[in-house]
Amino acid sequence: VRYADGKGWYDARVEARAPISIDPASAVLHYAQEIFEGLKAYKMADGGVAMFRPDANAARFAQSAQRMAMPALPGATFLQSLREIIRIDRDWIPQSDEGSLYLRPFAYASEVFLGVRPSLEYLYLVIASPVGAYFSGGVKPVSVWVSPDYTRAAPGGTGAAKCGGNYAAGLSAQAEAIEHGCDQVVYLDAVQRKYIDELGGMNVFFVLDDGSLATPPLTGTILPGITRDSVIRLAERAGRRVVERPVSMDEWREGAASGAIREAFACGTAAVITPIGTVKSPDFEFTVAGGGSGEVTMGLRKELVDIQRGRAADPFGWVHRVL
Ligand code: PMP
Repeated sequence: VRYADGKGWYDARVEARAPISIDPASAVLHYAQEIFEGLKAYKMADGGVAMFRPDANAARFAQSAQRMAMPALPGATFLQSLREIIRIDRDWIPQSDEGSLYLRPFAYASEVFLGVRPSLEYLYLVIASPVGAYFSGGVKPVSVWVSPDYTRAAPGGTGAAKCGGNYAAGLSAQAEAIEHGCDQVVYLDAVQRKYIDELGGMNVFFVLDDGSLATPPLTGTILPGITRDSVIRLAERAGRRVVERPVSMDEWREGAASGAIREAFACGTAAVITPIGTVKSPDFEFTVAGGGSGEVTMGLRKELVDIQRGRAADPFGWVHRVL
């Protein structure tokens, strides 16, 4: 779907996937005015096909657009585009229990213009690709690298938006994590470099010794994850206390040693919920839950995956049937 100032969104089309030509002076190539979403379509237990909370992705996409000075795509158009690509690509949705069709809606500034101001033209596209299980051979705890130098987002920045620029800014930190044998980066807050914000592509939760959960608050520097919100609501429904509050790196390190923090897990669309096993930085290294998969973490994971796959009741109305 295209957008032009004064005309609005127009020219919705379905085309076979192919390279798009782009003018060298397209605004996005210079100023990174681009936003995206990521979600999955699954085969359900009864053979149907569903998406998980796509209305939440539509809402976040609209918020990202606002932050990046882009025009809002109507939520109905966003949902319609996803339903359509799922119907067309229905034969590509893996049958397996863990596979899915990954959907990537995105929009970018397509105006051919080198001045610094919001573009007057945009292109919205959706691509889809089958993906297998995130973990082959069962869930494995991830290892994380606490980046000593890099921050992901500062107050007033774009941390709460899902824009390509945030990920570009994180690539050096991710390369550093990989060099140290870790799967993901842990970002600390940009001001005090003390509190945990989130991981490179996942939000983070801590299971405390009283069984309650703690997770960093949405203060504008972290992405408001849809999985994060789902975990909070699932845990609260089960009577578990969830506190959104700052958690410092010191609290995590000391808590892992004393038992005050029993488990830690990361969550996001790709891996759903994954235990964090090892935490490394230039100054220290420690394990959480003995480097294994904690009981509370794995329990929440099963509950959420069962709802997503239609194996358990969906009291929140999260499952959006397509076929
Ligand atoms: N934080 C970041 C930086 C992410 O890229 C993602 C993945 N979208 C998340 C958190 C988790 O968000 P969600 O649960 O909506 O996938």
